[in-house]
Amino acid sequence: MSQQMQPIFIMPEDSKRTTGKEAQRNNIAAAKAVAEAVRSTLGPKGMDKMIVDSIGDSIVTNDGVTILREMQIEHPAAKMIVEIAKNQETIVGDGTTSSVIIAGELLKKAEDLLDLEIHPTILAKGYHLAGKKCQEILKGLAINISISESHLLESIASTAMTGKGAEANKDHLAKIIVEAVKSIAVQEVTGDTFTVDLDQIKVEGRTGDSAEKSALIKGIVLDKEVVHPEMPKRITEAKIALLNTPLEIRNTEIDAKIQITSPHQLNAFLEQEETMLKDMCQKVINSGANVVFCQKGIDDLAQHYLAKAGILAARRVRKSDMEKLARATQASIVNNLKELSSENLGKAGLVKEEKNSSEEFIYVKQCPNPKSLSIIVYGGTEHILEENKRAVEDALGDVAATLREGKVLAGAGATEILLRKKLHSYAQSLQGREQLAVQAFAEALEIIPRTLAENAGIDPIDALTKLKASSQKWPGINVFTGDVMDAWDAGVIEPLKIKTQALASATEVAEMILRIDDVILSARGGQAPVPIGGPHPGMM
Ligand code: ADP
Ligand code: MG
Repeated sequence: MSQQMQPIFIMPEDSKRTTGKEAQRNNIAAAKAVAEAVRSTLGPKGMDKMIVDSIGDSIVTNDGVTILREMQIEHPAAKMIVEIAKNQETIVGDGTTSSVIIAGELLKKAEDLLDLEIHPTILAKGYHLAGKKCQEILKGLAINISISESHLLESIASTAMTGKGAEANKDHLAKIIVEAVKSIAVQEVTGDTFTVDLDQIKVEGRTGDSAEKSALIKGIVLDKEVVHPEMPKRITEAKIALLNTPLEIRNTEIDAKIQITSPHQLNAFLEQEETMLKDMCQKVINSGANVVFCQKGIDDLAQHYLAKAGILAARRVRKSDMEKLARATQASIVNNLKELSSENLGKAGLVKEEKNSSEEFIYVKQCPNPKSLSIIVYGGTEHILEENKRAVEDALGDVAATLREGKVLAGAGATEILLRKKLHSYAQSLQGREQLAVQAFAEALEIIPRTLAENAGIDPIDALTKLKASSQKWPGINVFTGDVMDAWDAGVIEPLKIKTQALASATEVAEMILRIDDVILSARGGQAPVPIGGPHPGMM
């Protein structure tokens, strides 16, 4: 360390850097912009967005996380907001728009306080306290619900689908969804809560009909066709091989070059290939399988051999479907044909292909594992279908979240109005500037009922005044009349988890953004920015 002095660069020379207030305002503006982008989609009267990509493909959706995922977002603080939507999607499956809107509003309110020269650290601390208090209050407000209350569970599913494309058929879909989730729910030994593994429910879409034709199938439905016309289309007492290895020889992953110089060599080569394929198929036949689902390709010749042996086969089955098939039929996925034997085959009472005008599907029914289900969702066109599927997935997430915790709250802004009030009382118990932060947090919660009103064309100030003055147990906004309704009685019910999760992540990201006072843009692409307060110059 005693060499001559050298200049120390902790950052590339032309790095850009914004600090202090500027950095903070910039981040807040970006986060608010993200929230603003999805705001108009919230609630039963929310509008849809059409997202068009550079080659003209489009998605029409009302789903917060889908919009954010498809948008090209570059700003790092904006990306942090998108992350909470994704997180909400993974953990609950619904409430993504709400979580983002709340985060945006928390930051907007924080900005007002920053203007009053309140230090961001105090704000972050106040928000932290408020966030923690919210969790406690929400748990106190929540109502217990049991798995036998099917009509309530159906209301929860319906609430999730309100305002989405699937709305017109939500009663029918809600029944299917509740039946599906109930049949895979496993009661925990310790009480009234359940474990629900939504991976056991496969949502498969079909175009050409309206959502009212949607149905629950006990078993697995694959968006696949039988690979060869001479294969059987229907097998009872199926013995199923799940192969994660190709039934073909040309392996496109390995780029081999073969030099053939005479017709004799070519023949020999083809013959050898044929023998190898035959040998592969023989291994399948010897195992006793009469159905093959292959995650990879199946060569034409192999298809022929399998067809001759009366085997039904499908190729290029998705990995996630292979896993569902394994669970449903109790097969093991085989990675090497040498390992294939009668022992790793699965079973199903019936495997059959069904066709409608445009598509083929393979049904695998009467599986040994009764907890393997598929919901076939219909939609008139591809766009409608995709949106219907998203609505069904939101609803599945909500019903599952309800059974996992056994606790629910009323929606339509009711929970936020109650929470706001209780948080204000809590603020009274605090002193100093943190009190202001907690009050700001409480006010920020108004964004949910306000946005629900705005999106329904209802005067938000009127609506909020009425909601705050209401003595209803669950004062929610009736988006059709603008009046106050009891949201619970109106059947607008949501799992506790939507709200606790949305608030926890919105608080967390708001706090995090508030604590950033230095943004360093590295000039070199792909290089990690120097951590703030990072390596001490002397240590480099
Ligand atoms: P998110 O992505 O946050 O789930 P949604 O567009 O699904 O966004 O809207 C959810 C909000 O709509 C919740 O606050 C919920 O309480 C409210 N909501 C749902 N159904 C109704 C209804 N019938 N009347 C009023 N509000 C409703
Ligand atoms: Mg929703």
